[in-house]
Amino acid sequence: MSDTPALYEGKAKILYPTEDPDVLLTYFKDDATAFNAQKKGTIVDKGIINCEITTHLFKLIAQKGISTHYIDRPSPREMRVKAVQIIPLEVVVRNIAAGSLCKQTGLAIGTVLPQPLVEFYYKDDAMGDPLLTLDRLYLINAATAAEVAELQTKALEIDRILTDFFGQCGITLVDFKLEFGIDKSGQILLADEISPDSCRLWLADESDPVKRILDKDRFRQDLGQVENAYQQVLDRVRSHS
Ligand code: UDP
Repeated sequence: MSDTPALYEGKAKILYPTEDPDVLLTYFKDDATAFNAQKKGTIVDKGIINCEITTHLFKLIAQKGISTHYIDRPSPREMRVKAVQIIPLEVVVRNIAAGSLCKQTGLAIGTVLPQPLVEFYYKDDAMGDPLLTLDRLYLINAATAAEVAELQTKALEIDRILTDFFGQCGITLVDFKLEFGIDKSGQILLADEISPDSCRLWLADESDPVKRILDKDRFRQDLGQVENAYQQVLDRVRSHS
């Protein structure tokens, strides 16, 4: 961990400045939270695992032509990233019904969606990250119509890339959350992380609804074997990268 005072400390990561104002250092913590931080705990070595998984996935996404804020990984828990202004939206892509989609629509968990669903949530912990309609999103100036169109296109392309990659790993990509930022030249970059903290990942060849879970739902629902699940995702991602 850097000696420099942090710029920002979030629930799972700490952001430090570097000597270059265009570069920041992200430190991945082992802290885990759920239900808007009402549940707190630790997942041993999660920071190292999520930093490496994010690195593999951001490199893959960049190879496929979508710019990310990733620069390099100077240590197991640290990622150097391009400084961006984060767009205050959580962009969720869903392929299979789970989580809040089931609670709010009555769809049964595991229902395969006819096409991927892209949703925008307002990134505001105090408000509990509410789901936004497009009109509300524009009303609060969270993004412009052109930015929303670009986010939607990028989110769907990332979904195709990750669904294909995780498929090769024997993992079903159920849903995931992305964050984007704008760099100093005005370009939209994929930011934050992609890890078992921010995705729902199910073992493709396991039908048991508990055994198949390889993501933060194991922590949210006290299912046990959390570290083991995260490590399995890393092992599979590593061996297919
Ligand atoms: N997600 C996230 N951060 C959040 C909210 C959701 O990374 O603050 C991820 C979550 O892990 C899942 C997807 O976004 O992969 C959809 O989450 P959902 O809306 O179903 O909410 P949840 O059931 O997790 O409350």
